[in-house]
Amino acid sequence: MKNSKIIQNRIKCLKCGDVIESKYRHDYKTCSGGACAIDNCTNMC
Ligand SMILES: [Zn+2]
Repeated sequence: MKNSKIIQNRIKCLKCGDVIESKYRHDYKTCSGGACAIDNCTNMC
């Protein structure tokens, strides 16, 4: 088994065009427009 894999989660907001990326668990990011957010488990936009 390899090292613990790095989870990356990246989405592009369709509303404001921002690309936001969550690199860690519970690394909560929101786009500048505030329309979408990711925390590595869920993403919505
Ligand atoms: Zn947005």
